[in-house]
Amino acid sequence: MNNTAEVVIIGGGVMGCSILYHLTQMGVRDVLLLEQGVLASGSTGRSQAILRMHYSNPITSAMAWQSLKRYRDFQDETGHPSGFTNTGYAVIVGPEDRDAMEDNVAMQRSLGIDTSVVSPEDLLEIAPMLNVPDAGGIAFEPQSGYADPYLVTVGYAEAARENGAQVRQRSPASSVDVEDGKIRSVTLQDGSVIHTETALVAAGPWSPRLLEPHGFHIPLEPIRHQVIMVRRPERTLPSHPIVGDILQELSFRPHSTDLTVIGVGEDSVTVDDYSQGVDPETVKDSMAKLVHRMPAIADGYFRGGWSGLFTITPDWHPILDRVPGVDGLFCAVGFSGHGFKLGAMVGQLMAEMVTQGSASTLDITPLRASRFEEGRLLTSRYRYNVLA
Ligand SMILES: Cc1cc2nc3c(=O)[nH]c(=O)nc-3n(C[C@H](O)[C@H](O)[C@H](O)COP(=O)(O)OP(=O)(O)OC[C@H]3O[C@@H](n4cnc5c(N)ncnc54)[C@H](O)[C@@H]3O)c2cc1C
Repeated sequence: MNNTAEVVIIGGGVMGCSILYHLTQMGVRDVLLLEQGVLASGSTGRSQAILRMHYSNPITSAMAWQSLKRYRDFQDETGHPSGFTNTGYAVIVGPEDRDAMEDNVAMQRSLGIDTSVVSPEDLLEIAPMLNVPDAGGIAFEPQSGYADPYLVTVGYAEAARENGAQVRQRSPASSVDVEDGKIRSVTLQDGSVIHTETALVAAGPWSPRLLEPHGFHIPLEPIRHQVIMVRRPERTLPSHPIVGDILQELSFRPHSTDLTVIGVGEDSVTVDDYSQGVDPETVKDSMAKLVHRMPAIADGYFRGGWSGLFTITPDWHPILDRVPGVDGLFCAVGFSGHGFKLGAMVGQLMAEMVTQGSASTLDITPLRASRFEEGRLLTSRYRYNVLA
């Protein structure tokens, strides 16, 4: 086994694997990814995996739009499936958020994103199963949908391996070793050492353990989000679009032919000790909200669920940057509840930063690490950060 690599990536979620793939596409083949468990075993494997573009900031909307097209055409690009399913996405807001929604849609349209404000009557033509008497505003994105986060992650890893990269699972990194302000190596928990001059931390909620020893103290907080599955009555409710229900503070999407999957909740927890199941009270409350929004699902029933971790920053937006003060150390962290949909472009942009010195496809300076100390945080036009 080699004990050197041109680049070492720590973390085998969608971000680490997408960066790995993009580096190999840019000609960096001597690249090693370390994953402490198995690929996609962190937040990625628990993701609701909704792909939509409705955000308050141009950078996230643009990354989501370009990533959507890459996930849709994933098989052609990588030779592996992504499980992309086009369902359309409706965002529903209350009267108090109508102006914010219209501003967001105008911004997204200026970026070329396929979205528009629709009336309740328009929406019911597209999606007659929905019930929106309380909607103050609705936007609809016909091209949105969901993908399979496990397939995307292993697809990137496999395509990178085909390009010459190495992936080591069950190989936790214990430290990034720095001397005179430069990376020298990455040490694994088993004591082995990989010599390298470039390392990239994409370790999701575990990232602070690798970054804090280098003076990088951006607060990355783990937040528990619950995913609740409801068996859908197939005959009366064969499918439906994805709904971002800002009014009721949850989202839901169809899954295969007979399930609807709800995403809800923002509980502060610790990384190694949180309830991975769903809470009965949340199930009851969320199912009532789902029935309100889609009455025919009243004939459905609870089929189980799970919880996973968002890794949030103070503005709920990621950090894509070099780690200040350490030559050769990069990070892609803090993706909150919307990282999966950005994953393809995160890989592209971080690989550009590593190989060319800065990202060139999009201007990602709004996602720089120093924005927190500069007080230049990104803001949401809504009160519910995860939805936009
Ligand atoms: C319940 C839930 C629902 C979500 N829904 C959506 C959604 O609908 N749409 C969307 O876009 N996003 C969604 N997200 C967010 C999205 O899933 C995440 O932002 C994204 O998966 C983050 O990917 P990541 O690679 O940064 O982190 P992770 O997937 O957590 O990957 C980090 C990896 O690093 C590994 N690791 C950690 N420490 C070490 C170490 N020391 N050495 C080696 N490996 C290490 C971990 O084992 C892990 O596999 C959701 C998240 C959750 C939890």
